[in-house]
Amino acid sequence: MIEKHHGELTEGCKRCAKGEKLVLFVTGLCPRNCLYCPLSQEKKNKDVVFANEQQISSPQELIEEVKLSGATGAGITGGDPIARLHRTCEFISKLKEQFGKDFHIHLYTSLNLLTEEKIAKLEAAGLDELRIHPDLDSRDEWPKLDLLKDLKIETVIEVPAIPKKEKQILELINYAKDKVKAFNLNELELAQTKIPEFAKQGWKTDKDTVTIKDSEKTALNIIKKARGWHVRIHYCSARFKDEIQFIERIKHYAHLAALPTDIITESGTLLRGAIYSSIKPLQEKFPKETFTQDKDRILASAKFVKTHFKELPKCAIIEEYPTRDKTEIYKEFLN
Ligand code: SF4
Repeated sequence: MIEKHHGELTEGCKRCAKGEKLVLFVTGLCPRNCLYCPLSQEKKNKDVVFANEQQISSPQELIEEVKLSGATGAGITGGDPIARLHRTCEFISKLKEQFGKDFHIHLYTSLNLLTEEKIAKLEAAGLDELRIHPDLDSRDEWPKLDLLKDLKIETVIEVPAIPKKEKQILELINYAKDKVKAFNLNELELAQTKIPEFAKQGWKTDKDTVTIKDSEKTALNIIKKARGWHVRIHYCSARFKDEIQFIERIKHYAHLAALPTDIITESGTLLRGAIYSSIKPLQEKFPKETFTQDKDRILASAKFVKTHFKELPKCAIIEEYPTRDKTEIYKEFLN
């Protein structure tokens, strides 16, 4: 099972599923310390900003990354983006200014920092969809969900499907069903920085060593039990999020970044030839359009490099991500 929903998906989810959403990590600061928090050491409680995999420091760099990725929207995450409200609103308004009203923006926040005034600022900046992550174990903040009741923007509650928390999640859905427009349940994944905490809770991984046993079963039970309540519920599995959405997102980059000499693979990576020399002697020997200078290497087609490696300086066949960091996933030197 990769995903299941009852009722219409939100616009944020529709575009995310097509890989059209840029992930804007606006800060690692957060007032909560959830047992299952997935943040890495590099991001947790650090006031850093990332646009997809790229660390950035200005709205201009964000706009550049949107252009490179071909995104038609952004999902703003953290930490808690409201912990840096001014920065978040600036990013939202700059994105809307540059890419227009149809550029869809959703934002994740815990309930802790939410106030009427802050929601108004996010709306004024142009936010389209607000996703709230309430604490399942403490109801102290739940009454704040009343703030969402009459908002025009899409409002969603999004929580992980934690095994043995079926009752609490159903109580939350029942409590909030007249206050928000939709619910998202995510498959729980092992947080690499929280392995002892997961063990203590008895949350064991499936065979894939990533997803937590019975999380999917919990989500599907909840969807079944909430059926009569006529609420929109969507279950998003880890596989759907990490593989399918990621591959779709990478493919968007690939179509924009690929040179005419590259091959775009099924998973969105680029297959290309790389020659480690200067371009001039190569252009004297072969047609100029065979080569593209790329920082400290010359790019050509994989076929060209394979055919001519005996006449070329040091060269390789490479497969790499089309993103700015160009992470190599395969490299074979031919000479
Ligand atoms: S609210 Fe999100 S970022 Fe904050 S601690 Fe919980 S999981 Fe981590």
